[in-house]
This record gives sequence, structure tokens and C-alpha cells, in this order.
Amino acid sequence: MKFSNSLVLLSTLALSISPVRAQTAPPLDAASRQLAHDVFKQLVEINTTESVGSTTVAAEAMAKRFLNAGFPASDVHVLVPSQDAMGKRKGDLVVRYRGKADSKLKPFLIICHLDVVEAPRNTWNTDPFKFIEKDGYYYGRGTQDMKDSDAIMVTNLIRLKKEGYVPDRDIILALTAAEEGGSWNGVQWLMEHHRDLVDADFALNPDSGGVTTENGKPMEMDVEATEKLYADFELTATNPGGHSSVPTRENAIYEVSDALGRLEKYTFPFELNAVTRAYFKQMATIEKGQRAQDMLAILKTPPDPAAIERLSDDPHYNSTMRTTCVATMFSAGQARNALPQLAQANVNCRILPGYSQEEIRQKLIGIFNDPKLKVQYVDDSGVYHDRGTDRKSMQPPPVKQEVFDPLHKVVNEVWPGMPVVPVMETGASDSVHTMAAGIPSYGISGVAIDENDDRAHAVNERVGVESYYTGVQFYYLYLKALTGGK
Ligand SMILES: [Zn+2]
Repeated sequence: MKFSNSLVLLSTLALSISPVRAQTAPPLDAASRQLAHDVFKQLVEINTTESVGSTTVAAEAMAKRFLNAGFPASDVHVLVPSQDAMGKRKGDLVVRYRGKADSKLKPFLIICHLDVVEAPRNTWNTDPFKFIEKDGYYYGRGTQDMKDSDAIMVTNLIRLKKEGYVPDRDIILALTAAEEGGSWNGVQWLMEHHRDLVDADFALNPDSGGVTTENGKPMEMDVEATEKLYADFELTATNPGGHSSVPTRENAIYEVSDALGRLEKYTFPFELNAVTRAYFKQMATIEKGQRAQDMLAILKTPPDPAAIERLSDDPHYNSTMRTTCVATMFSAGQARNALPQLAQANVNCRILPGYSQEEIRQKLIGIFNDPKLKVQYVDDSGVYHDRGTDRKSMQPPPVKQEVFDPLHKVVNEVWPGMPVVPVMETGASDSVHTMAAGIPSYGISGVAIDENDDRAHAVNERVGVESYYTGVQFYYLYLKALTGGK
């Protein structure tokens, strides 16, 4: 994988700003704060899970708000990918905010997914589909991933419309389905079937990036420059089975669990790329003590193995330094008194840039070291394939001053002196689809999450109340700064 242009990008990104000064950003007015609250609450309380939810209901609810705010019907589209039961629940919303009529600039696109992962009621303290305010936090499924950003974009476009603001180019917002998995991924479908509605010069994706705080103090703004590649692999062992009173030497459950035991003991090799090098170089200026020294030590040639070891104890730094594969699901057996005829396990991998899904499948086969075990690639729709794709994760997008200059300006207004850091996202996002469609995509979000409070996909998901409203104000200022406004 060629990273040539990324060095320029990273030096542009990794700009540490002048020493701490007072915040100069105007505060969020009461009416906008109320609107931001109401939209957020409305979205969290619409179930958009794969199992029983509907992004179409959420898309229609937001479309109504845009029409009520004066957006012409010709610029507000709720699009349903198919009329079968599943397709009807996978609706997307595309809204165009018209800029100057004579603008020569291509629009830019904002992608935000409406779907959320499952939230079993019995594992939560509160109802995951009730918007609960408690102890300075908003609780609910999607409050971090990513109904906060959905609400932020809806709120700000409606605010700007009410102000009569005319940007120097069109702004397109796509609120989409199935980022978290399942069929009819909205961004992919829109790129393939409605390119005219979403074509853009570049895309912003608030599903990645974001502000990290340490005990409430903002430390850095992460901007996604690239991301690891997502891949699921299914291990399958079969066996004729038989009566459990006469166990045989071979057992499907032991076969799969032994293979997983070998994976557990395996550590993928340490490897940095231009993005993660810039990341650790920047983080070494933010971290303190041994950790800061270790970050500098792994950047040396050869890198210090003891420093790698210590940093690998931190799950986030570990997954930034290597490919990871972990068992996430296991199912086996057909009866308590019968030898298992089938055992299956899912291994979820996050692959470093430069490696394909098929290369990692081959690597896993070597680790499992059991020719009888079937190792298949599972695609986003849950279909099994005997080999993975040759797709590799995306190259960092090219430098766009028109994206980063306004970013530095606004970050400095809202969080004076806070550094902007390029990151390789360890999770996957829909930027993989916009990038694949040739639209440079940047993971930028203004919502601050504490480094120890990442609750995306977890129980009792929550976001700080003031962190949310600062995120609203950040994007309001950033959208204006991006489109010639003050
Ligand atoms: Zn997400």
C-alpha cells in the first residue's frame, strides 16, 4: 500500500496549536439547545436495530422536520431500497441544503448512520430506547454511536435554514441504514443507485474521529486518516456424532475450541504505517512519563520490544500497532446426551492497511493448524464464502486545505490550544464505501468522549450532556467555516 501523500496530510493534520487561550466560540443559544435536545431524544426513542427496528421510521421523522423548517420537498428524499419486509425497514434520508445558485464548487456530503446495534433490555439499567438524563449524561442506545451526530447535523441544518444562511456550495446530508451490519448498507446503496443525489467533492463522517478527554479535560481531536479493514471468519467443525456415553477421540467442540486456544496465544506482528507513526509521534507530546517514552521508543528503528510490550497492554494502543482477530461467537451441539455433530465460531478481525481479507484468512488457517477445520469469510449480509476478498483498507485521503484550514480555525475557537491528531480507526465505518466510490472521506466529530468511557456498542451507552451541546456548536461553526460563512 502506497502512503506517499499521507505524509503531507499527516504533517498538515498533526498541527499543534498555540498555547491555551480562552474559548472564543459563541455559546449555543437556548432555542437551538432545545431543538438539539428534542431531535436527539426523538431519534434515540426510535428503535433502529437490525432485529426489530426501522431506519425508515427515523428517516421519515427527520424528513418531516426538514419540510417543516422550509426545505423544499424536491430536496428531501426518503429512499427505501426494496419492498420486501427487511428492505422496508432499511430506509435512508438524503437532504440537500442549497448553496449559492452560481457556485462553481461541488457539494460536500455528510454521512451519518441511523441504525444502532442491539441492546438487550435485561442488560441495561435503564430502557435503552428511552432518552434518560442522569448525573450529567444522556443515556440510551446510540447516544455515542451515532444518534448524537445524526441529531447534531439535523439541528444545525435547520438552524442555518432558519437564519437564512446561504453557503457557498450545496451541503448534502445522508442519514443511512445498516452501517452496523445486515443487508442494504445505505451509503453503499446510495452510491450505487442514487449517485446523482449524493455525488460530492468530499465527505465528512462523524462516525469516526472525535475529541478525547481525560478526566473531563479535552486532550486532542482525532481525525480519521485511515481505518482498519473489518472481516468476519466462521470456523466450522463437523463430526458424525454419536451417543455421549461412548465419547470418541475426535469432538467437534474440542476441535474448534483448541483452534481458538491457539489463536488466543497468537499475537499478530507489530507494524506501524505513516498514519500510526504520525499518531504516536503526536500522542507522545500529549501522554506523560513511561507511556510517552514508550511511544517514542517504538518509532525508533529497530523499535524497542519492551516498549511495544508495555504499550500492548493498552487495548487501544495494541489494536493501533497490529492486526487483531478475536473470537466473538460460539455455537455447538444439538443435544445434551449426544456427541456434537457441528461446532462453529465467529472470529472478528480488524486488519491493518496493506493486507487483504484473504491474506488474513490464510494466516488464520496457519494459526489453527487443523486441515479438517473449515475457515470461511462471512460478508456484511452474513453470506459465507470459501475465500475472502482481495480488498485492502483505504489509503489516506488526499490533503484538502478547504477541509483542514477551517477545521484548525474552529478547533482553536472551541478548544483553544488542543492538538488535532491523525488516527487510524480501529473500527470500521461507512467511509469505506464513500472512499471506494472515489469520494475522499474524513472522520471528524466534535463530541468529546472520555478515554475511559467509550461505550459504543456497550451496555448503558451514554454521552456527556455538555459534551453533546459543544459538539452541536462545533459543527455549526465548522459548517459555516467550510462554506464561506463567519
Ligand atoms: Zn457507528
